[in-house]
Amino acid sequence: MRAGIAVLPGDGIGPEVVAEARRVLAAVADRWGHAFTLREALIGGAAIDATGTALPDETLEISRAADAVLLGAVGGPKWDDPRGKVRPEQGLLAIRKGLGLYANMRPVAVTPKLAHASPLRPDLLAGVDLVVVRELTGGIYFGQKVREKDHASDLCLYTVPEVERIVRTAARLARGRRKKLTSVDKANVLETSRLWREVTERVMKQEFPDVALSHMLVDACAMHLIRKPADFDVIVTENMFGDILTDEASMLAGSMGMLPSASLGDGKRGLYEPIHGSAPDIAGKGIANPYATILSVAMLLRHSLELETEARAIEAAVGKAIDRGVLTGDLAAAGTKAASTEAAGDAVLEALRQS
Ligand code: NAD
Repeated sequence: MRAGIAVLPGDGIGPEVVAEARRVLAAVADRWGHAFTLREALIGGAAIDATGTALPDETLEISRAADAVLLGAVGGPKWDDPRGKVRPEQGLLAIRKGLGLYANMRPVAVTPKLAHASPLRPDLLAGVDLVVVRELTGGIYFGQKVREKDHASDLCLYTVPEVERIVRTAARLARGRRKKLTSVDKANVLETSRLWREVTERVMKQEFPDVALSHMLVDACAMHLIRKPADFDVIVTENMFGDILTDEASMLAGSMGMLPSASLGDGKRGLYEPIHGSAPDIAGKGIANPYATILSVAMLLRHSLELETEARAIEAAVGKAIDRGVLTGDLAAAGTKAASTEAAGDAVLEALRQS
């Protein structure tokens, strides 16, 4: 197949982990006879330095013209002034909005070999394989903000179509997995949550009767994620609850360096990135974990290009590299030698060749 992929390395360790992901994409193209055209563009701090804005028009145009976008990470101390007019994160918000990406998907699967890296007991982690689908462009983060001398408010607003489309995205995903959807809200207190629950009930009953739906209050969900994480299949939730629960869920896997993500809209085009940031503390040292970015490539192939075989091959190759003990510093057990970013990429390529 022919496909165009926009590559936005960003800042800090972004370019280092993206370099390994590019090698994996090239190996997949070679092995399965695809022609991927990669176009690199600036985002975040690197874009601010070069053009004065975190998302140059050219980057958005290249991304819009592509079938999928692969992103590293943005940000760093150089651009950290919270009062600064232009900030690297503006690039992220602008590209999500510019591409109409309203559904953020974060899978969390725990590899037994890495159980030591998680703060939870290994017996709690056995069989964990869940995906959190977070609404990305609505809710309290985007509602009207008011600041007066003695009070402040943030409006939380959701429309029926906004809830319908995210529930459909999550339900379609659940349908291809264990057919269990948990919708998370705060319907005992919030009106937006009561609307969310009503709409979710209707969409699931009418369009996804084969997927088992349950509702959970966000506080209970925060507890269950730690107590019985293996019970979850797909979780769907609004923007702020999703923001918090995804960070909590990421700790199940032990390191942020393991977790990929996808942001999707109505069409096939999506934005794929590791969940971690630009890790300025280790940038430039060649020791960052590239697995989350390589696993983001697998999600890209699956969701935007419908190349399921290739996606699974990458996931299996990362699993093999880990089983072989090729672990970067964030994963390696204390006292063991850590692999470099490049060595981790080499191990994935080697496993792909042997698959
Ligand atoms: P971070 O995710 O960059 O780092 C947190 C810790 O995890 C650090 O100790 C880091 O070394 C480690 N870490 C992260 N990714 C790793 C990897 N692949 N391999 C090994 N270790 C890894 O979060 P932070 O320190 O809070 O933020 C740093 C910068 O990144 C800030 O400017 C922040 O705004 C930005 N940020 C960007 C994104 C994004 O681009 N999506 C997300 C979060 C934070």
